Amino acid sequence: MPELPEVETIRRGLQANIINKKIVKIDIHKPKQVHGDALVFRKKILGNKIVRVDRIGKLLIFKLQKGEDYLLVHLKMTGQLIYKNKKSIVAGGHNLPIGEQLPNKYSHIIIYFNDNSILFYNDLRQFGYLKIVHHLVKEEIKSKYGLEPLTKDFTWLNFLALMEKKKGILKSILLNQQVFSGIGNIYADEICFRAGVRPDRRVESLKAGEQKKIYQACQYIMSKAVASGGTTFSDYRTTDGAHGAYVKYLKVYGRAKQKCLKCKNNKITKYKVAGRGTHFCGYCQQ
Ligand SMILES: [Zn+2]
Repeated sequence: MPELPEVETIRRGLQANIINKKIVKIDIHKPKQVHGDALVFRKKILGNKIVRVDRIGKLLIFKLQKGEDYLLVHLKMTGQLIYKNKKSIVAGGHNLPIGEQLPNKYSHIIIYFNDNSILFYNDLRQFGYLKIVHHLVKEEIKSKYGLEPLTKDFTWLNFLALMEKKKGILKSILLNQQVFSGIGNIYADEICFRAGVRPDRRVESLKAGEQKKIYQACQYIMSKAVASGGTTFSDYRTTDGAHGAYVKYLKVYGRAKQKCLKCKNNKITKYKVAGRGTHFCGYCQQ
């Protein structure tokens, strides 16, 4: 499942490629992946242009030129966006074969541009969606997202104010999208490792120094992940179809029972915290 760095990588790839191209045709093979009325959706998309690609958390927000409408796209588990023109392919999302047969049996929505380039929305399990909303609805949706690392609002004071209001397990709070948006399972483990704090600690037990380390680790880990195009395991690809480079920087995630890279002695523990497989070093993390 794509996390924030992966979705940001897709966003950048699309922003560089689809802006100001007129949409001349749209195929909707699976109407259920369009939330709301598919006919209205079609009417609003046709003849329109995407003028900007934004993102909040894992939600992609395409600003349309006409009206005050926005196209929202969420890839969920297995969604994939593939943009194809004569010269190149940019793709992001679930790791289906790219560049072979397009459209394929998972290409449920296809958007055609006036320069003969095409944007495919593929989705194996069909949990993702596209929908068009008015500016005000978009703002309401955005307001429900938590504080996002790498935005200007992610200040130490804002972070601290949020943490001090919360009670519970650190990892669940990091993963709660209404508290912090865009931190997923992989990065939550990496953040806790870098901060030297166990993911199963209760936040109300954190000392000021630990809170500060978690804050700094959020910024460090997320910015490094975005810079390297995200993380690829079995089901992820970046916008150019390559595998995310961040995987080589992972210190604890996916390293259960292997020697800790920091203390070089203790073995990485893996067990379920907040319902998710969680990795940490019991020696380096308190
Ligand atoms: Zn260690």
